[in-house]
Amino acid sequence: MGLTKNSTGTSLISSKFNVAVREDDDHIIALAGNPNVGKSTVFNSLTGLNQHTGNWPGKTVTNARGKYNYQGEQFVLVDLPGTYSIMSTSEEEEIARDFVCFAKPDVTVVVADATCLERNLNLTLQILEITKDVVVCVNLIDEAKRKGIVIDIEALSQKLGVPVVATNARKKSSLGNLAQEVHMVANHLKELTPYQVQYDQEIETAIAMIEPTVNSLAGSKINSRWVALKLLDGEDKIISSINDFLENELLNNDILIDPLNQAKQFLAEHEINADNFRDRVVTRIVKEAEKLSAEVVTFTNKEYNKTDRKIDSILTSKVFGIPIMIGLLGAVFWLTITGANYPSAMLANLLFSVEDHLTALFMQVNAPVWLHGMLILGVYRTLAWVVSVMLPPMAIFFPLFTFLEDLGYLPRVAFNLDNFFKRACAHGKQALTMCMGFGCNAAGVIGCRIIDSPRERLIAIITNNFVPCNGRFPTLIAVSTIFIGGLWGSRYNSLAATLAMVAVILLGILMTLLVSKLLSKTILKGLPSSFTLELPPYRKPQFGRILIRSLLDRTLFVLGRAVAIAAPAGIIIWVMANIDIGSASLLTHSALFLEPFARLIGLDGYILMAFILGLPANEIVVPIIIMSYMASGSMLEFDTLRELKDLLIANGWTVLTAVNVMLFSLMHFPCGTTLWTIRKETQSAKWTFMSFLIPTAAGIIVCFIVTQLAHLFGLV
Ligand code: GDP
Repeated sequence: MGLTKNSTGTSLISSKFNVAVREDDDHIIALAGNPNVGKSTVFNSLTGLNQHTGNWPGKTVTNARGKYNYQGEQFVLVDLPGTYSIMSTSEEEEIARDFVCFAKPDVTVVVADATCLERNLNLTLQILEITKDVVVCVNLIDEAKRKGIVIDIEALSQKLGVPVVATNARKKSSLGNLAQEVHMVANHLKELTPYQVQYDQEIETAIAMIEPTVNSLAGSKINSRWVALKLLDGEDKIISSINDFLENELLNNDILIDPLNQAKQFLAEHEINADNFRDRVVTRIVKEAEKLSAEVVTFTNKEYNKTDRKIDSILTSKVFGIPIMIGLLGAVFWLTITGANYPSAMLANLLFSVEDHLTALFMQVNAPVWLHGMLILGVYRTLAWVVSVMLPPMAIFFPLFTFLEDLGYLPRVAFNLDNFFKRACAHGKQALTMCMGFGCNAAGVIGCRIIDSPRERLIAIITNNFVPCNGRFPTLIAVSTIFIGGLWGSRYNSLAATLAMVAVILLGILMTLLVSKLLSKTILKGLPSSFTLELPPYRKPQFGRILIRSLLDRTLFVLGRAVAIAAPAGIIIWVMANIDIGSASLLTHSALFLEPFARLIGLDGYILMAFILGLPANEIVVPIIIMSYMASGSMLEFDTLRELKDLLIANGWTVLTAVNVMLFSLMHFPCGTTLWTIRKETQSAKWTFMSFLIPTAAGIIVCFIVTQLAHLFGLV
């Protein structure tokens, strides 16, 4: 029996998990597994839904769902967050555990990685403690074969007491067995005898002392052995979830208090207390997983991951690791910068020629001048700008980045930076959330959920903005190409611009570490928590999938959002530029007001205002600057970066201005979406404000110092 609209105790849980919408006779299937084992691929192959499948554990937190039919029955597949265990209190683990435990799925499919079965069996054993309705899907069987790993599926199934199927999720045809076994378990057509981890004798005795009472309270609603284990463990969060589910305060229940105290007393007599109970439980699960794995896995090629290790010895080596990383970053930027120039110009030509036609159309129908001004010179030009400046670099940058992600390189980046983060008293996983920030800071902030410690998570959230998101790349790329690249003559243009970009990113990383350390020593005091970073095997990237994922899921998504925000911004800017107060427009008045302060940090009033007006989306900063410089009060139409440079120089720009624009672009308040996300993630106005204040203050201080030094040494 599964979750139905009427089943007891599940209304709260089902609304929490958003599964109440199913038809009564649907089967709910939970999809659990470690990160990066092909869970999303299984999900997509079965449901046909094109769900985004990043390698980041944080991403699956959105809990995607999809439906498929098998033998005339409907199955609702719920993709749970990828987790290594369901014991700790990280949000992902909580979601996965609570779903399996309280949403009562008809079947839980545990996707395991055939190339490292032992580690994956840990989670499988933990899930089998909660529910017997499990199907284990040993995925990546093709990779295992390639590496000379042979798994006796039949024996594993016998030992675990639940169906086990081997799959290659990239091939839809190989998922037939999985669908069949899920169907059998969902319809109770299989006898299941789930494997039970045997704990140390003392713990087993303690469980036996309370399990009958728990059983009398919980009945068949929940596995009483598991609840007994959790009560002995004393983990508040799980117990309160169990209480909610059972609608019964277990710890205050008269009939349970005595046996529980006796069991705890018994454990204490055997020197098992709150500190070492969990360790013993975890150690036993790990040992049993090790034993099971040893019984069913044979290595026909003992050197099976030698190549991976060889590659890692270079990519993560103390000497080459960081230089290679910087080199790759440079290569990605170089390809983006050189590759984006032509398509950018072509797109601009195309979009601005459409504008002429639109203008002609407006004239034909005698549309009022203000309407044409607002819609075409305001909205359309802003959009044309955003699209032509943003789309080409994104369409190059995202596939390259996704390629590195798919290859398995990003965890190596985290590995290389781990030591630096530890020294900054922050979490090594912060490097991963930074990588996500390159795409979008809001995504990076959500990604911080992969960090368990609230202190370290806050540090990661507050500092995420120090990596420039995709919205800021166009500004950085345009300014570095025009001014920095231009310094060395046309031959080295791209190279110089690339170096400037790499320098900015490195500065961003440096600032992240510096601010993290500062926070750790002041308002967020504490030591770094330990964690072990897994280096997953390298995978052969799938180019088709990379293109679809990066172009559809990332490029168009970001562009769509930018366009949606830029359109109304275009109207506001147009209005500000066209409402005159006295002899100047509202826009000019505002810029004049900001001018004295802006000069101190090497900018001008228009630039600073563009940053402020760019709060909804960073990508509109450059268009606003250009428009502000135009006396006409609408955004400039131009085809080449050369013309842009002339315009900027005519308005007083120097190399120092360009450097400060790049620095301020790197370090200023997060965009509106990111701030809103931070507010949601931290549930705190104070930390949201700090996330606003810290990068802004850093930007102001750095730009001020650079400007004053440049003046002092007479560089400008
Ligand atoms: P998730 O993090 O568990 O959702 O993993 P994904 O579904 O994103 O898969 C991670 C990577 O493994 C992707 O590059 C997939 O294409 C690849 N992958 C998934 N299943 C298989 C499989 O059975 N065989 C092979 N060779 N690759 C797979």
